[in-house]
Amino acid sequence: MIDIKFAEKDTKIMSQEPLIIPSFQELQNIMDSCCSEDVEAALHADHVGIKGLAALLSPLAHDYLGQMATRSQEITLRRFGRTVQLYAPVYLSNFCTNRCAYCGFSAENKIDRRILTLEEVEQEVDILYKRGFNHILLVSGEAPKKLGVDYLEKVALLMRGKFAAVSIEVQPLSTEDYSRLFRAGITAVAVYQETYERGIYDQVHLAGQKCDYDFRLETPARCAEAGMREVGIGALLGLADWRLEGLALGIHLAWLRKQYWRTALTVSFPRLRPAAGGFAPLLNVSERDLTQMVFALRIFDQDVGLLMSTREEARYRDGMLGLGPTRLSAGSCTAPGGYANADSGGEQFSVGDERSLVEVCAAIRKIGLDPVRKDWDCEFQVGKS
Ligand code: SF4
Repeated sequence: MIDIKFAEKDTKIMSQEPLIIPSFQELQNIMDSCCSEDVEAALHADHVGIKGLAALLSPLAHDYLGQMATRSQEITLRRFGRTVQLYAPVYLSNFCTNRCAYCGFSAENKIDRRILTLEEVEQEVDILYKRGFNHILLVSGEAPKKLGVDYLEKVALLMRGKFAAVSIEVQPLSTEDYSRLFRAGITAVAVYQETYERGIYDQVHLAGQKCDYDFRLETPARCAEAGMREVGIGALLGLADWRLEGLALGIHLAWLRKQYWRTALTVSFPRLRPAAGGFAPLLNVSERDLTQMVFALRIFDQDVGLLMSTREEARYRDGMLGLGPTRLSAGSCTAPGGYANADSGGEQFSVGDERSLVEVCAAIRKIGLDPVRKDWDCEFQVGKS
């Protein structure tokens, strides 16, 4: 068991209940103690606990996938309506000081590296704005000296007022830095633990700040403390047992939900994709596995936003519409400057769904759902001056 001690400067977080992620052996024991009755009880419960989530993620639930789909669809429709939110990532830089075995941006990979100038950022976001996007996710590798908070603040101010929502997926920051970015217009942060299994975490994070498991685990709490409207968590699927990863993710989610009830929460399910460096996933996670995990998390937490990126193929993403996921990326490019220049190179991973925003919207409408490009406006914000 781990008992996270938060950094001294984060005094507000220190007063909270500690976040305890059990070891994978302990998670396995919880799962092994489940029976079919636990799966059935979870399928009919209004509130599902950790044992219920373990049952829904377990091999026992294999025979209940159809019922899980029906329950997940019903909850999704009731909580989110007939809508699917859309967003596009903008890669600001592919410099990274970390060495993550599974990532194309890893420091040792010989790829063309660049950081977008503010003019280039403007060019990229203008293209997406004209394509109809209103929610942008700013992504970068972790290179704080080249791409620090000053740069991110300038980018946020540049985009302020133009987009309904601007999120970031960059290096973990301090609470103070998140507050500063929030004031500049960033409203959401995504930070994935990658794997909750410490041994594998150490095995695939070979150098750099990201080697610090606990600092990363604390990051979503720091974002919430800083007042971010939304925080996204997730695990990279293909590193450790997906069932136990899902259970650890659920425990993290439930802890955040309890401590920061004002903060909207989302979960992503990135499956490993081919990337520079030739890393092969340690474990195979099939579409059926991913589907079970999505349904289990939806039934476990009825309010959580579930994201499905263009890592997944169009066929699969279309098949999941309305069943659990509430937000999709579309028309994505994972190389810095890739919207203005398709040959820019240096992408983080190859995408599985290459359709444009228009094509993704058409697929969503085809099954009777509404594509939503704007779900938030800063005018809604309580206490906005
Ligand atoms: S996963 Fe993130 S931190 Fe790791 S090498 Fe890639 S960009 Fe850098």
